[in-house]
Amino acid sequence: MSAKIPVSEDISRSVKGIFDTHCHYDESVFDSDRRDLLDEMFESGTVSGLMHASCDLISSQAGIKLAEEYENYYCAIGIHPTYIHFREELPSDYIDRLKMLASHPKVRAIGEAGLDYHDKSADREEQKRVFIEQIKLSQELDLPLIIHCRSAYGDLVDILKKHPARCICHCFGGSAETAAELVKMGHYIAFGGALTWKNAGKPRRALKAVPTDRLLFETDAPFLAPEVFRGYRCDSRMTVYAIETAAEILGIPAQELADITRENAKRIFDI
Ligand SMILES: [Zn+2]
Repeated sequence: MSAKIPVSEDISRSVKGIFDTHCHYDESVFDSDRRDLLDEMFESGTVSGLMHASCDLISSQAGIKLAEEYENYYCAIGIHPTYIHFREELPSDYIDRLKMLASHPKVRAIGEAGLDYHDKSADREEQKRVFIEQIKLSQELDLPLIIHCRSAYGDLVDILKKHPARCICHCFGGSAETAAELVKMGHYIAFGGALTWKNAGKPRRALKAVPTDRLLFETDAPFLAPEVFRGYRCDSRMTVYAIETAAEILGIPAQELADITRENAKRIFDI
């Protein structure tokens, strides 16, 4: 992932006004050229907005700092299910701390929060507790919730039935049936680079179950680069590859899909 596509290289394939609903520009792989990259993406018009997803209190604070520097950089604050004991121990008053951070005007979502059963080292009951506490926080603050879910869609749907929230299911990896059920419950579904990968049959089938007014695109940068850039550091310009793949599947021009999904993002994030 350390190999970088130069900032000067035009990889946006002429699609403009992308909203990347999930990225991590606090990651150290951006330390050498973070400003140049963000300046180029925003000034060229390739990217019209970004949602920084946070994994713990450290990345929540870093996201707010970046959001203060760029007009169209927004921030979600939250605790990722595999970060409860990672990097720093989750303090017992973390909900109060998140609440304080959420008073910043650029904070437009809680997350990423959720369940990760792929990571066997993370205790499932503890994950559920921290997830439900953040669902309640999102409801109390009237902010949408960005969900990370890996190998846990059954429990996710059960929990959301008991604890209603307005959610964005990031990097959706569930079935078409689960996508349809989550849409019926009022949630948004986001797809990224994984849609372009070989053997992407499952997310491509799920995509077809999501109406365009509930669809979002993202990168999860610096992770999950699209097929053509596998092995490279991912950045928000690459959102266009997921959009192009989806546009072809859905029979919609890529720019039109970029426009529709940008407006969806602005609506759910109240921008
Ligand atoms: Zn993420």
